Amino acid sequence: ATARIAVTGLAVMGSNLARNLARHGHRVAVHNRSSSRTKLLIEQHGHEGDFVAAETMEDLVASLQKPRQIIIMVKAGGPTDAVIDELTPLLDEGDMVIDGGNAHYADTRRREAALRDLGLHFVGAGISGGEEGALNGPSIMPGGSKESYVHLGPVLESIAAVVDGTPCCVHVGPDGAGHFVKMVHNGIEYADMQLIAEAYDLLLRAGGKTPAEIADVFREWNEGDLESYLIEITADVLSHVDADSGKSLVEVIADEAEQKGTGRWTVQEALELGVPVTGIAEAVFARSLSGRVDQRKAVRDAFGASEVAKTVTDGLVDDVRQALYASKVVAYAQGFDQMRAASKEYGWDLDLGAMATIWRGGCIIRARFLDRIREAYDGSPELASLLVDDYFREAVQNAEAAWRRVVVGAVQAGVPVPGFVSALAYYDGLRSERLPAALIQGLRDFFGAHTYRRTDREGSFHTLWSGDRSQVEA
Ligand code: NDP
Repeated sequence: ATARIAVTGLAVMGSNLARNLARHGHRVAVHNRSSSRTKLLIEQHGHEGDFVAAETMEDLVASLQKPRQIIIMVKAGGPTDAVIDELTPLLDEGDMVIDGGNAHYADTRRREAALRDLGLHFVGAGISGGEEGALNGPSIMPGGSKESYVHLGPVLESIAAVVDGTPCCVHVGPDGAGHFVKMVHNGIEYADMQLIAEAYDLLLRAGGKTPAEIADVFREWNEGDLESYLIEITADVLSHVDADSGKSLVEVIADEAEQKGTGRWTVQEALELGVPVTGIAEAVFARSLSGRVDQRKAVRDAFGASEVAKTVTDGLVDDVRQALYASKVVAYAQGFDQMRAASKEYGWDLDLGAMATIWRGGCIIRARFLDRIREAYDGSPELASLLVDDYFREAVQNAEAAWRRVVVGAVQAGVPVPGFVSALAYYDGLRSERLPAALIQGLRDFFGAHTYRRTDREGSFHTLWSGDRSQVEA
């Protein structure tokens, strides 16, 4: 019994994580339901570190130091439950089961409670960065008990990405907090990618630029405030030429975006919590719209394909950059609001500055920008919105005129920019002295006697709409 930690589930994520652990000097026990994957890992990468191959789950458990630490990296959902069920009878009090898959946080809460009853620690750990991150340093978002992190933290921090000397791994909070934060990370990733795609579309269709020219624009943007992994790889994808057709690859990729579900989960949970995450929702819906191929064709046939009026102006590129930045601030502000709301709802006590810190490296939304978010929440943990932090307030104020020009121009030209438009509407909504919600309350009171509150005195009121229309206190 000498291995420090174990990984079960050796598809791409699990084997890369195991290699990362081994490369960092941890003796790692490895196991997979079908042992061929275990053999393959040892054959191909056994020389990279100290692996202990286990044929069965019993062997795996027997090979571990106590308290045992076992990372599960299998398909999320039923398979994770199956592995937990197989594993738990073999464990002893105080052992730790870590689920590194993309679990729904509600499943993680359920599993954590069940294992806690058995005296075991269950740690739902969000892991971001895809297969490359798993191998070379992911962003890790572990939930679960503080006690489990005392044992697990040093190992996880040793394999996480590192930015400015700080590992991109921190104890997020109890039970499902880690997987919730990972879910919101993915939701923000959806919004970020949608905004990038809208910027590209504007420069392409309204700006008349080629994908290769737009790649150069993104490369330049990556030198400034927008610097991020997604902007960087956008330039790479846009400049890639397809060998078969000789065209830009992006021109021959079918324009139907797919999704695995974490964006949808983020929006579903935001609806439950009552947090407006309009940027993420628009991004999820834009992907759904792109996939409705028959409907798109029917509407195109009925109306004719939209003709985009070229609105090329000297300032278009810089206006789009500013609109992208301001919209991105809104998307992140909304995502962080959602984490705060969940933290209150579930008593997680999330440190939002720390969440920005661990997203600076390893994960898909890693960006210079996150340093600013960290500073904002470190400086004022109770910040009403990211928008009111001095740095972001000034950035949005500076971008506002360009942002409006881009939205107006896109609407007039007929280029759909749901992300830019909804971000601006969110900003204008929050800034309005009076919202038409007053009318909505009036209507609700009219048809359903739902009552309303007044601006000038306390209490709830109802107007006798079908009577003499006098007001009564409810
Ligand atoms: P997959 O999601 O493709 O899962 C394959 C693995 O699950 C195999 O090891 C397979 O074993 C095992 N498995 C499936 N069903 C069962 C079962 N009933 N009992 C035991 N084992 C089972 O692998 P990935 O490596 O892509 O992902 C692993 C996890 O990491 C998933 O939860 C995924 O969502 C998450 N993740 C993935 C990322 C990515 O970029 N791919 C990024 C971040 C997280 P066998 O070989 O025997 O079939």
